[in-house]
Amino acid sequence: MRDLDHRRLGRELGLFDTDPLMGAGLPYWLPDGAAVRHTLEEYVREAERAAGYRHVYSPVLGKRELYELSGHWDHYRDDMYPPMDVGGEQMLLRPSLCPHHALIFRSRTRSHRDLPYRMAELGGMYRSERSGVLGGLTRVRAIQLNDAHIFCTPDQAVEEAAGALALISRAYADLGIRASRHRLSLPGGGGKYVADPALWRRATALLREVLDASGVPYEAVEGEAAFYGPKIDVQITDPAGRESTLSTVQIDFHQPERFGLRYTGPDGARHRPVMVHRSVIGSVERAVAHLLEEHGGAFPPWLAPLQLVVLPVGEEQEEHAHAVVREAVALGLRAEVSGPAEGSLGARIRRSRLVPYQAVLGAREAEDGMLAVRLRDGRRPGVLPVAEFLRRVEGRVRARGTALWGPA
Ligand SMILES: [Zn+2]
Repeated sequence: MRDLDHRRLGRELGLFDTDPLMGAGLPYWLPDGAAVRHTLEEYVREAERAAGYRHVYSPVLGKRELYELSGHWDHYRDDMYPPMDVGGEQMLLRPSLCPHHALIFRSRTRSHRDLPYRMAELGGMYRSERSGVLGGLTRVRAIQLNDAHIFCTPDQAVEEAAGALALISRAYADLGIRASRHRLSLPGGGGKYVADPALWRRATALLREVLDASGVPYEAVEGEAAFYGPKIDVQITDPAGRESTLSTVQIDFHQPERFGLRYTGPDGARHRPVMVHRSVIGSVERAVAHLLEEHGGAFPPWLAPLQLVVLPVGEEQEEHAHAVVREAVALGLRAEVSGPAEGSLGARIRRSRLVPYQAVLGAREAEDGMLAVRLRDGRRPGVLPVAEFLRRVEGRVRARGTALWGPA
């Protein structure tokens, strides 16, 4: 069986690494990994923008009082870094983005006409994992989370949560990710959860409504809820059969209470909004780890760190190959030349086996303005004019999804 561990693939493909001086669980991203991550982040922002979200930025530190107010200090402290004393105040690395977003919502007077207010951020958060469990991109101490909070009326919560689920399934189709199952995560025993049985029942009933209407099969599992509310978890399975949560949708009545959130209703009175927490791809780290394992390093064309390699047969075609690459780069593609100095044509083709598009440029092709095109999966669409080939690659990349080639 092929070794599909993302740590091995990431090292082999030069995507990310760690340094003992930066610390365990704190990977850095090399240029090819950064290209994948950047493309993924831009995709998520664009999908959110099209779905009516507005993006914000908020700081990764907050005062201890903020997390006392949100409940993280009481219920989640074991997973947080200890406070830093700064000028007599205690500052904490944030364990989640929710408290900041609640404050941003609270900072202005909100009317029912502003709702649903969909606030999104790809932001940093921190988890004090023990060093024994750290590894690769799946257990890290600094997390970049694709997060959003929808502030809405109780009547809008089901539709907003359903919209978030739809965004998740569209993203999975574009990324070539399969959900292994949907889980309705409920509280278990112990003091981990905030106590307000009526709010738990209400939120759980709404999430069941969302799941039933979506038609996806799901299982209810106790002991997996967030401390402040139940959630829908979209589960994925790695090649070794281990399951983890990638995406989540939550309906939360608790935080709006804690933060005293309000909006003005059509009746002129002040009302309490609901918060829908949702993440489409979860953390960027876990998403890239899963994409690596799911595709064995052969990313969908739009995500591939290198999308096109141009292979001049001899030195005489090198200049021409660079001109093709410049054209491809101008179209927004990630393209490179792999010339004869890097070995025989066969060796260069083998080395490019994960690159979706390989274009061989011999004397005849150079003279005619053509390229002999090979796809990563072994197909050979033939000898195509440079402009037509680049246009088709650009079309595939723009369409996203996993297909390498399609109708012109
Ligand atoms: Zn949240």
